[in-house]
Amino acid sequence: MRRPFIAGNWKMHKTVPQALELVEELRGLVEGEQGVEIAVAPPFVALHPVAQVLRSSVIKLAAQDCFWEEEGAYTGEVSPVMLADVGCAYCIVGHSERRCIFGETSEGVARKARALLNHGISPIVCVGETLEERDRGEALHVVGEQLGGSLASLSAEDMVRVVIAYEPVWAIGTGRTATPQQAQEMHAFIRRWVVEKFGGDVASGLTILYGGSVKPENIRGLMAMDDIDGALVGGASLRATSFAQIVQGGKG
Ligand code: PEP
Repeated sequence: MRRPFIAGNWKMHKTVPQALELVEELRGLVEGEQGVEIAVAPPFVALHPVAQVLRSSVIKLAAQDCFWEEEGAYTGEVSPVMLADVGCAYCIVGHSERRCIFGETSEGVARKARALLNHGISPIVCVGETLEERDRGEALHVVGEQLGGSLASLSAEDMVRVVIAYEPVWAIGTGRTATPQQAQEMHAFIRRWVVEKFGGDVASGLTILYGGSVKPENIRGLMAMDDIDGALVGGASLRATSFAQIVQGGKG
């Protein structure tokens, strides 16, 4: 039985005082929750202060990205060592905004995932097709390629600590959610793909999140699907009340 997982991606939102206000309110709303994994991914500069509020909290800390080297002359980058040091349990890698706006490749995602695992952080590996790719009937092929490239260097033992997030690009921040059936079709494809590469045990334990305009109103329908284990939430994670409602819906 997979544990539901709801993660909030704050993207480039919230100053440090705003981040602290949000996480304190959220803590008050979800602290008693059991049977659901909860994480928030603030911007880098807010990770350390937010970590102080989350000490002994059920809410886990996540980063939104990282570089794969441990240290060195890489201006502007943040390493897995630094993320582990501030207490990150998770790190999002390969988000479509990183792939589309910053030219991130699946090869880079694979290096980041490897580096994170080396430092005890679980990568949340994002995959998803654009609307043009879906309209051309290429969605499964595109996601299969992203999975192959992004998970290339990992073993079955590594995969036990990996989370996959299916985020169709056309549903991110657009208000247009994939239907539960569309999402389920892709999640089932991803799980079958993992069965083939890493075996049935890894696949049946794998957490696959859906992301793309998840809201309190649609979380239950998504979570009712067999292969949807949780959500990666952008916009609706920026308000404690809506994120807490999604956590409630995620519990089932
Ligand atoms: C995201 O960026 O991961 C995301 C799913 O955003 P939104 O919920 O705003 O569509």
